[in-house]
Amino acid sequence: MDPREELRSLVAGFRAHLEARGRSGLLGVSMRRQSTVDSRQLASSGAVAVAKLGAGGLLAVREELGDCQRCRLKGGRKQIVFGVGNPEAELVFVGEAPGADEDRLGEPFVGAAGQLLDKMIEAMGFRRQDVYICNVIKCRPPGNRDPEPDEVASCEPFLKKQLAVLRPRLIVTLGKFAAHCLLRIDTPITRLRGNWKSYEGIQLMPTYHPAFLLRDPSRKRECWNDLQMVVAALRRMGVEPPLPTRA
Ligand code: URA
Repeated sequence: MDPREELRSLVAGFRAHLEARGRSGLLGVSMRRQSTVDSRQLASSGAVAVAKLGAGGLLAVREELGDCQRCRLKGGRKQIVFGVGNPEAELVFVGEAPGADEDRLGEPFVGAAGQLLDKMIEAMGFRRQDVYICNVIKCRPPGNRDPEPDEVASCEPFLKKQLAVLRPRLIVTLGKFAAHCLLRIDTPITRLRGNWKSYEGIQLMPTYHPAFLLRDPSRKRECWNDLQMVVAALRRMGVEPPLPTRA
């Protein structure tokens, strides 16, 4: 290869690597130094850690997930979609599973539903990089079908470990699937949304999935009410959104 071509390709590869780590909230973390300690802490704590373990903790969970072969979704995915955002986030959004766009780009909520989620986050006075966003399921189910119970059983422990290391002040579940998974209930989302719940001592607000809101925009008002409750609760905890919130 022409040396200039080779250099260009090395720089492009390095840039892609940095961008991917930045998107995962892992940029700037020394993989070797942080991960041994945090793996041990995680292993001894089960799913629940007492303090935030930040980027190093997330890296340990990502390393444990590895090139996951635990369920049949391994066959159809382009890549694992782990999560994105601030490893020190006080606010975490949990969705269902990656779709085609997320599978292609390796980042949750980047398609049409993701664009609406971004608007919802901004209306709350946050930027996407201030919060953390992940899904229950880390690999795209074929044809965007609902995940099967055995797939959830394989993947859910990693969501729980992510939440244990993030230890946010507040969790927002998007749609019935994430709420049912974390709360171990099967109340319809229309009754569940807007009612405070608790997950491992963390306040949790179930609301509608943005994909559902795209199909039925008349439900946006209810969702916005839920998100306003979230902002008010964060303020009571001393967490102020960095940007103005929409009235
Ligand atoms: N829907 C989800 O639940 N998660 C995504 O990442 C994208 C769409």
